[in-house]
Amino acid sequence: MVVGEEHVLTDADLRAGFETDWTGQYRGRARLVVRPASTAEVVGVVRACQGAGVPVVPQGGNTGLAGGSVPDGTGTAIVLSTTRLDALDPVDTAARQVTVGAGVTLAAAQAHAGPAGLRVAVDLAARGSATVGGMAATNAGGMHVLRHGTMRRQVAGLEAVLADGSVLAHLGGLDKDNTGYDLSGLLCGSEGTLAVLTRVRLRLIPVPAHLVTALLAWPDLGTMVEGLNDLRTRVDGLEAAEYIVRRGVDLVTSTFGVTPPFAAGHPAYLIVEVAGGTDPTDALADAIAALPDVLDVAVATGSGQRQALWQLRELHTEALARHGPPRKYDVTVPLATLAAFVAEAVALVEDDRGLTCHHFGHLGDGNVHLNVLGVDAWSPERLARLDDAVFTLVASHGGSISAEHGIGRLKRRWLHLSRSPVEIAAMMAVKRALDPLGLLSPGVLLPAPDQVPMWSAGTDPILPD
Ligand SMILES: Cc1cc2nc3c(=O)[nH]c(=O)nc-3n(C[C@H](O)[C@H](O)[C@H](O)COP(=O)(O)OP(=O)(O)OC[C@H]3O[C@@H](n4cnc5c(N)ncnc54)[C@H](O)[C@@H]3O)c2cc1C
Repeated sequence: MVVGEEHVLTDADLRAGFETDWTGQYRGRARLVVRPASTAEVVGVVRACQGAGVPVVPQGGNTGLAGGSVPDGTGTAIVLSTTRLDALDPVDTAARQVTVGAGVTLAAAQAHAGPAGLRVAVDLAARGSATVGGMAATNAGGMHVLRHGTMRRQVAGLEAVLADGSVLAHLGGLDKDNTGYDLSGLLCGSEGTLAVLTRVRLRLIPVPAHLVTALLAWPDLGTMVEGLNDLRTRVDGLEAAEYIVRRGVDLVTSTFGVTPPFAAGHPAYLIVEVAGGTDPTDALADAIAALPDVLDVAVATGSGQRQALWQLRELHTEALARHGPPRKYDVTVPLATLAAFVAEAVALVEDDRGLTCHHFGHLGDGNVHLNVLGVDAWSPERLARLDDAVFTLVASHGGSISAEHGIGRLKRRWLHLSRSPVEIAAMMAVKRALDPLGLLSPGVLLPAPDQVPMWSAGTDPILPD
């Protein structure tokens, strides 16, 4: 057997955790779960599946929020869990890079890079479980996109097993390597549909000598957006700008017994973090003092205080899950329209449908996370109508239906709202070239052929009017 019997899980109880996604909304059935420990074992598994016509769903930490990490309900696919691909190569301090197994968690990668004074630039609350491979596969974003970009920018090279079992490897990590198509970049964000990522060469950045975090209270979202713009021109080294609102803070403080940030609640809050080689506290304080609309400020310099501020933001997803499951919309809109979009989205969800709409997000990136509570008993058809209304609103504001979680199973029907027919045709051509039998993560990211608007195989794409 390719991986050893103990790493093939066929028992329903053992499979269960791999068949349900983090949100609990996607529950599939796997023929079995296989847990390879090396690239050679992944090759063996993929080849065997190719030969038998069995679909393969790669799964890392299973923290994805778009339903892409679990199989459908037919029981035909296997789950290929990457968590045993956990090798850590020595940190290359000269290049400021490290090659790690795709199953290494973000927290483990950070712990490995830390003693060299380096870190992975992408950070997110699921760091203890989310794997580097899953983060590359979803092109994860997180708290520091504002300054350092998404996961794609942190990936200096990849090793991946293609659908036919061949190994595509480009791990040299040269920053200047202008030799044709950027295949690592293509596999970032491919959500398991083009290859199984087995190793990732990560760019690292220095751990900052000084870090200061502040919580700023605002009368509303609109003034906060303007204030952030102002702050960005006044302060260097802004690493994060996360927004939360009173309703979410109340949910977090009541759910987890966390102390509220200020004696009195405020409508909206912005958490900003500034990093620097010299202490940026005074520069940040001066910049905040110059902002006209700030209602209240709390500044954290020590790590305990920082954690206390950050947990107000980071516990949102878990707090909502305890009251849910929420319907999640992870979208981006242009900053100029963000406040108007949020007001319209909340009205659309609450006024028309009597639901509760929470929102928070990565303000610097225009990334809003809408979380709708009260849909537990809704039928899939009714949910699809809600999805349709929200995504159409996003598109009408010139936004993207997926900011950072990917398309997964959740949004594939609406891909055409963010990608043109020509782009979708090109994506499907890439998919056919690399996975002609369609065995890697079927049903994820790309629309079903009969749902592709204005295009079909073998014809020229028909451009919209
Ligand atoms: C509390 C919480 C906070 C979060 N915050 C953020 C955030 O700020 N920003 C953000 O971007 N995301 C966030 N997420 C979502 C999630 O953590 C990311 O999408 C993460 O990148 C998923 O990694 P994973 O290892 O869990 O992947 P999984 O959930 O296992 O898989 C996700 C997708 O990637 C594919 N995949 C996984 N591993 C591989 C591989 N080795 N090769 C090929 N395909 C693979 C899967 O098939 C699936 O389509 C959050 C999730 C939670 C629960």
